[in-house]
Amino acid sequence: MNLVIFGPPGAGKGTQSNLIKKKYKLYQLSTGELLRKEIKNKTDLGQKISSIMNLGNLVSDEVVGNLIENYISNDNFKSRLIFDGYPRNLIQAKNLDNLMKKYDQKLDIVLKLSVSLETIKKRILERKNLEKRADDNSEIAIKRYKTYESNIEPVIDFYKQSDLLKEVNGEASISEISDEISGLIDSIKGWL
Ligand code: ADP
Repeated sequence: MNLVIFGPPGAGKGTQSNLIKKKYKLYQLSTGELLRKEIKNKTDLGQKISSIMNLGNLVSDEVVGNLIENYISNDNFKSRLIFDGYPRNLIQAKNLDNLMKKYDQKLDIVLKLSVSLETIKKRILERKNLEKRADDNSEIAIKRYKTYESNIEPVIDFYKQSDLLKEVNGEASISEISDEISGLIDSIKGWL
């Protein structure tokens, strides 16, 4: 099965994806992680995108689309992907749909983690102390939240139409959220 997990920055997508990946033996495809790796390795792409990311803006749909196609087209990951941080706008949602068709796959569930702006601010500042991400300061975190909000509505509508969307309360504890997500995944028939 393939699943999408999305939510505002600091919603816990990465944490939950990590737990799901282990439990269901899936592969976690985090576009943010892939992009940070490019920056860390100082590749040509990394140099182009670092200022965009550090300002809290989205990297181009084309760049991120190419990155994910590399994984979707790889038989090792076939129908085993967690899309963590993709899609972030309607163009990306449609692109993902097309790629699923192109490689004879489908999405089985789309999880939306909902969290208030207050909680996000708190979590991101805590994370800054642990991970030292260049884009985790309060000003840029708020910018990322705004970027999220201004792009995500059409994505939500898009997945509501196909009946894949499940909303999860991201304010609960890590284990409560994880239990809720496992329940949703287990209720999808025929993939295990
Ligand atoms: P967060 O959701 O906490 O902001 P991510 O690691 O998911 O963290 O993303 C970090 C940054 O990576 C984003 O602010 C954006 O610049 C870039 N990015 C990640 N995924 C995408 C995507 N699908 N499209 C465009 N840019 C992306």
